[in-house]
Amino acid sequence: MDNLPNVFTGDAIEAELVTECDARDLGLARCVQLLRDAGLRPTRQRVDLGQLLFLNGHRHVTAELLFEEATAANMRLSLATVYNTLNQFTEAGLLRRIAADGLKSFFDTDTSVHPHFYLEGEDILVDVSEGLSFTKMPEALPGHDIVRLDVVVHLRKAK
Ligand SMILES: [Zn+2]
Repeated sequence: MDNLPNVFTGDAIEAELVTECDARDLGLARCVQLLRDAGLRPTRQRVDLGQLLFLNGHRHVTAELLFEEATAANMRLSLATVYNTLNQFTEAGLLRRIAADGLKSFFDTDTSVHPHFYLEGEDILVDVSEGLSFTKMPEALPGHDIVRLDVVVHLRKAK
């Protein structure tokens, strides 16, 4: 294997992806590219979790939820690894962390600034579809700039 020119192995991998046209393989390739573009090495764990996160539309997940999905998909990962990976993705700009309550953070695959509903007791975070308006932003404290405004509207089931 070591005697093979790099060009050959490169071609072989590319050919496999193109001819297979398997959704999973194409997803894998997209995920590897996404990680590379964000400056992250595409390790097995990152690619596995990345596929759960980024190939299923816009999502809001907690570390616990993603850990459950990974376990159900036979990925051998610890909850700590899931936490670490989510934090690395957040630092690389692939996710946005939303603190919904004191204990739990959600990770949003839509990194734009947008308001959320948090369903208390159900542990669900969803986007607010209608626009919100604020009449006045406070002045930043001296020596500081406003970075962003996070809005989480807490909801509870009506009785
Ligand atoms: Zn969101």
